[in-house]
Amino acid sequence: MLSADDRIPVDRLKRVGPRLAERLANLGVTSVQDLLFHLPSRYQDRTRLTQIRDLTPGAEVLVEGTVSAAELGFGRRRSLKVWLADGETTGLMLRFFHFSTAQREALKPGVRLRCYGEVRQGPQSLEMIHPEYQTAEAQGQVADALTPIYPSTEGLQQASWRSLTDQALEWLGRGASILPDLLPEAIPRALGLPDLVSALRYLHRPPLDADLDGLLARSHPAFHRLAFEELTAHQLSLRQLRERARSINAPQLAGDGSLRARLLAALPFALTGAQGRVLEEIAADLAAPRPMLRLLQGDVGSGKTVVAALAALQAVEADHQVALMAPTELLGEQHLRNLAAWLRPLGIEPLWLAGRHKGRERAGLLEQIASGTARVMVGTHALFQEDVAFANLGLVIIDEQHRFGVHQRMRLREKGAREGLAPHQLIMTATPIPRSLAMTVYADLDLSVIDELPPGRTPIATVAIPDSRREEVIGRVRQACAEGRQAYWVCTLIEESEALECQAAEETARTLGESLPGLRVGLVHGRIKGTDRDALMRAFADAELDLLVATTVIEVGVDVANASLMIIENPERLGLAQLHQLRGRVGRGSQASYCVLLYRTPLSGQAWERLDTLRRESSGFVIAQKDLEMRGPGEVLGTRQTGDLDFRVADPARDQSLLPAAQQTADLMLRDHRDAVEPLIRRWLRQKADYGGV
Ligand code: ADP
Ligand code: MG
Repeated sequence: MLSADDRIPVDRLKRVGPRLAERLANLGVTSVQDLLFHLPSRYQDRTRLTQIRDLTPGAEVLVEGTVSAAELGFGRRRSLKVWLADGETTGLMLRFFHFSTAQREALKPGVRLRCYGEVRQGPQSLEMIHPEYQTAEAQGQVADALTPIYPSTEGLQQASWRSLTDQALEWLGRGASILPDLLPEAIPRALGLPDLVSALRYLHRPPLDADLDGLLARSHPAFHRLAFEELTAHQLSLRQLRERARSINAPQLAGDGSLRARLLAALPFALTGAQGRVLEEIAADLAAPRPMLRLLQGDVGSGKTVVAALAALQAVEADHQVALMAPTELLGEQHLRNLAAWLRPLGIEPLWLAGRHKGRERAGLLEQIASGTARVMVGTHALFQEDVAFANLGLVIIDEQHRFGVHQRMRLREKGAREGLAPHQLIMTATPIPRSLAMTVYADLDLSVIDELPPGRTPIATVAIPDSRREEVIGRVRQACAEGRQAYWVCTLIEESEALECQAAEETARTLGESLPGLRVGLVHGRIKGTDRDALMRAFADAELDLLVATTVIEVGVDVANASLMIIENPERLGLAQLHQLRGRVGRGSQASYCVLLYRTPLSGQAWERLDTLRRESSGFVIAQKDLEMRGPGEVLGTRQTGDLDFRVADPARDQSLLPAAQQTADLMLRDHRDAVEPLIRRWLRQKADYGGV
């Protein structure tokens, strides 16, 4: 009974032939049900006639009048000009650049017209360019409902959409509903939301007195009804994924704690409370016979790496291998250095596998991995290529998760799986994701948060300075370096071209070098690759360079404790989270650190708000929440992730208030309404067949 499968193909509708069906399919609409979920993006008010004397530029209105004059204009472009009069006013000119002879003959003085269009201020009078119009015989009553405007593509007129959705809405009224309400009945009611069919009817054909602002802002209960259902469906699909992942067995990595104890004793610091807490969460997961799927969030500098190292040791204690995957070679090498420094004294030599390892060298490394001689392996995605076979992989640690989507996560799970045992997974991210969004995107993961920075860190003082004061900023660099410290100068470029960005960075490095004689200036950008880039970074880390000019390639995680000043040029071009991430490169030592946002004037209000947030806020979580509100989840999470976040109606940022209820509803449905779960998921996540199929 509760099947969302009886989908009615669109070609069952009148006037839908193969061509139209194909156009619709390109928009993802193949069934009558899809049509119903294809919602208007806005509405026009054709329910009232506006007097010509009341017209204002910018308004979209319906007017009625008599043609008082018509002529062909031969200005820069040939056009047909038609003057429309109502009563004594003759103020409106209709202007057509494309018109047929028949049209020209029909639009002659004395003809009564009703037009709909946007009013503009023309050179002589108010105008409508290419209005929709009807002549006398077609004129009936004004519309008795708002007119929906559908998102469309070329060759698909609004009139077709209206006819199609009219027919689809008719299907809704027939006996056995083609769209059964799959949510437990009491829930929408408790939330003050309408039932599904009423909501759809309302959104497609809002009544005269509808709250247009609410509809446009998508805050109307009818809209919330759909968004809520979609969020619930999304939640359910991720829960299923999670259930499925947890139905596999994992090695129980209990360990005796001996290696961990030795590392803790050797560390020059004590773990923070937050580090200790998440470590316990991880330890408990690793000891369980189900694969851990845990997201470790922690602001830049919160000390995730040592937590990862301690988790790795627990796996090694239990005689299993650990693979740590970094998004770039540079970052991977930094992890390798950290791990080596910590693990070598314990008799564990981490192995480094990169894309550039080839031939005999690679074969040798693979042999160590396959035989189990290598116990801790660090690398990029090269670690998970076809030819890499692990002896007994127990734990996979992925750094900078935001670059991987749910599908990549699953592939990794499979890769490590062996003899029915899947490895545990720990995913670390320094891009803090607000809890509400994390619950949506990562519902297949458990969440651990390091919400505390190690003691003794002085917050980074952030200032915003206009580029008219560039000289002053250069002076600050001079002074910091004279005091024995180091600085970053980050160049940003709006163009997508890496070549241009590198060029700009080169130019900046040159001019800064001239302005700062005596300072050792290095340059790092995307075109400087591999060993050269690493050599430069190392030179900076070893204080052989005073100033490092760089593009945003330095965004992720390389530590240089002596660097205490960062200049970010044109910060208005970057998102908040990225700026925060960049800023995290300084403030890693004990001395006071500064970040100068060297902006270009004039700044838009939005840009100023962003810089101001950064100036006042040091918590990555607060900043991420702000970023989410300002830019939406797609931008915040990056493109990879948005593929997973392909919502039809809902927007997890805008509809945050619905998330807790969607979660609870998902719980309830999994417990008490299991027969509705599959149909609901299929209704909303239809195209993503592999979502549940893994
Ligand atoms: P992130 O979370 O950004 O990866 P890291 O793990 O790189 O942070 O840690 C940043 C720095 O703080 C490192 O130098 C690390 O050794 C140090 N650190 C980590 N935990 C502590 C702690 N509890 N007390 C003091 N310093 C710490
Ligand atoms: Mg890190």
